[in-house]
Amino acid sequence: MINKHIVLHKPGKFEYKENDIDIKLSEGEALIQIKKIGVCGTDYHAFKGNQPFFSYPRVLGHELGAEIIQLHSATESHKIGDRVAVEPYLNCGKCQPCRNNKSNCCEQLKVLGVHVDGGMASFLKVPVNKLHRSSLLSFEHLATIEFLGIGAHAVERAEIKKGSTALVIGAGPIGLSVVQFAKLKGIKVVVMDFNKNRLKFAESQLEADHTICPDQDFSADNLREILNGDLPDVVFDATGNKASMENALNFVCSGGKLIYVGLFIGDVQFHDPLFHKNEITLMATRNALPSEFQKIISLMEQNKIDINQWITHRCNFKEFPNTIEKWIDPDQMAIKGMISV
Ligand SMILES: [Zn+2]
Ligand SMILES: [Zn+2]
Repeated sequence: MINKHIVLHKPGKFEYKENDIDIKLSEGEALIQIKKIGVCGTDYHAFKGNQPFFSYPRVLGHELGAEIIQLHSATESHKIGDRVAVEPYLNCGKCQPCRNNKSNCCEQLKVLGVHVDGGMASFLKVPVNKLHRSSLLSFEHLATIEFLGIGAHAVERAEIKKGSTALVIGAGPIGLSVVQFAKLKGIKVVVMDFNKNRLKFAESQLEADHTICPDQDFSADNLREILNGDLPDVVFDATGNKASMENALNFVCSGGKLIYVGLFIGDVQFHDPLFHKNEITLMATRNALPSEFQKIISLMEQNKIDINQWITHRCNFKEFPNTIEKWIDPDQMAIKGMISV
């Protein structure tokens, strides 16, 4: 069977290729036909050459909406023709985090399109238990489940209580997905970013309660003015920016939580007396759990999440190598770009 795919050979250099795919499946595997591919920051960083722990050549693509076209063996749970969202986190199933139901941080974790070849292709073999079905959602909607999962997982980690206030710093797609799930908890959400278009999106589409485009000396006191003298109970930093992550501690209320959603490759420092005096809970969050994929599918099926406005840019498979630079350009104001295979 002919498999069209796009290889990223090295930073800046994509190549469209065709090869013959071996369709023989191993125990527990399914062959899927990729229909839609979401493009995210990881792909942009890999293209620009600033994605850490990344090796070339690589087939990108980890936000996938697909159809099952072959199964190694018939299962109760999956059928040929099922539409699925792909959970791209291939875990070992044996290590301590896997045994503790934390497959998102498996010690041997391999993410499709990052550590192993992903879904910028016509076909892909994947473990059937990584396929989350929906008979109602479109392939495009299924391709958004993965990045929404990052936000959903962060919000679950925070164990938000009724009546809380959250601050989300950084309104890229991941920060916006945190806003989405925090709002679904029925709490007040404040969003901070330098990009006014993103803030507008958070207000109009996600019903963020306040947005802040901070100047150089924006302080906790300024935040208190907005929140009737209080500070946020939970602060999510989705910037991956060292200065922002270090400064975020100042915005958490005493006894509150700080959650690093974005990753910075290097040391992050803060003043321990402030951390201790306020008895801050500090958490990291990465990827998402299988249960969260299912939960998001169900929320989308019930129209509790409207993802249509998020998809700002689209292209066909062959056009992508010449389109990606446009999507990276901040003037294009892309939230989510989507490729049709
Ligand atoms: Zn991604
Ligand atoms: Zn494991």
